[in-house]
Formats: sequence, C-alpha cells, structure tokens
Amino acid sequence: MATEYKNDPAAAWRAMKDSSVRTLSTVTLEEAQAVIGRMESGRVAIPPYGELALTILREAKIGRQSTNQFHVSEQTFKCLDCRDSGIVNVWNPSFVESYRNEFASVVRTEYDRGEKITAKQFDLNRFDPEETITAWIYDPPNWEWLATKWWRNHSDGYGGATNHVAMCHCDGHRTEVLRQELASWCAGTRKNKHGERASLPACGAARYNPSKMPRKTAMPFDDLTGWYATHAVNEIYSWQP
Ligand SMILES: [Zn+2]
Repeated sequence: MATEYKNDPAAAWRAMKDSSVRTLSTVTLEEAQAVIGRMESGRVAIPPYGELALTILREAKIGRQSTNQFHVSEQTFKCLDCRDSGIVNVWNPSFVESYRNEFASVVRTEYDRGEKITAKQFDLNRFDPEETITAWIYDPPNWEWLATKWWRNHSDGYGGATNHVAMCHCDGHRTEVLRQELASWCAGTRKNKHGERASLPACGAARYNPSKMPRKTAMPFDDLTGWYATHAVNEIYSWQP
C-alpha cells in the first residue's frame, strides 16, 4: 500500500476500488464470477489482495480464448470431408495405385508399453499412464518420406506430389465460392487487385473425387491400409483404355 494512504485506510480503499473499476471495465459480471468460482475451486491461485483485479482480467481473457476454442471444437459440420472449409487433403490417386506393392513391405507394430525405456527415448507411460493411447512403431520409421522419394523416382518426377489439396465435392458455402474462383481461374479471368492474372484459389486445381482419392489424414498409414483393403488393384483406373 502506498505510503500516502498509510494513515487513511478509507482513501486507500477508494483508490484501489477506482483502479479496480478501470482494470475490470471490459470484464463482464459473468466472467468475473466465473474467475472467482475458479479461485474458490482451486483451479486459479488466489492472488495477493492488490492484484485481484488484474488476475480477474487476465483469467477472463484466458476464459474467452478457451470458450472460442471450445466453440470451434464443438461445432457440428455439415460436411465431414472438408469441415465446411471447401478444401480437402487428398492422396494423389496415381501415387496410391502405383505404391500398393511397395506399401505392403511397410510394417507397423504396436508400441510395447512394458518395454524398458532408455533415457533418450520418449516415455509415453509418463504422459499416458492409463495407456489410453495406442502408439505404433513403423519399419522403416520414415516410410512416408521414403514413399515420397520412391514416387519421385518411379514417376521420373512427373507424377506430381504424393498428396495435395483439392476442392471438396460438397455444396457448402465456401465450396461454392471456391468453385466460382476455380472456374474463373480456368477461364483466365481471375484477377488480383492490380488487374493482373491471379494464381489458383486456395483449393488448388484438383477436385476431390471420393471414389478415386483417399483422404489424407493425420494417420497416413491408416489412410492407405483402409484404401487398399477396400479397393482392388487398378480399380480406380479400370475405366481407362
Ligand atoms: Zn465439403
């Protein structure tokens, strides 16, 4: 407490109250109550008295961020392929078809949670003691990188990337916007603000065709395993002469 208030506790109280009012001017009553609730339940440490308002402000801001994230993660999507973004990550179907035999030699085994961990290894048990996560070991461990290299050599560099973005097949709003942008790019009329010809829209030039392209997810091994298990050899190209 500042020295000028030493003998005037009422003035000190008023000054602190005014300062707190300024600090909390952007915080709603509900937000402040929620922060105090978190303090009462021990999720937020109770600050020294003079820092109460600042702590409430800071925690209210953190609460807003997590509310937004919660909102996004709880959102329901009309299209599960693109999550209403209009854009899908897909595997290049030419690569997928050519890579089938190579992929058969990639071996995946479940990570043995009982195995002794050396100091340098990542100890999953420390972070997931309940063993809720199934972790995998791949042989070769960098198979995806090797697959990219294999494809480049196999296709003499003309086969394109192993995976890329594509415009979704749904009729969502963003997909519709991208469809128009792509059409205008194809027609050569897509212009930037200087009137120069603009590059491709964010979806790239390809269109997602679920019957020919597996979706690329965070689990690439599962993507390809699932696809090969449900699609016969050359199935997607059988229509070609
Ligand atoms: Zn979609």
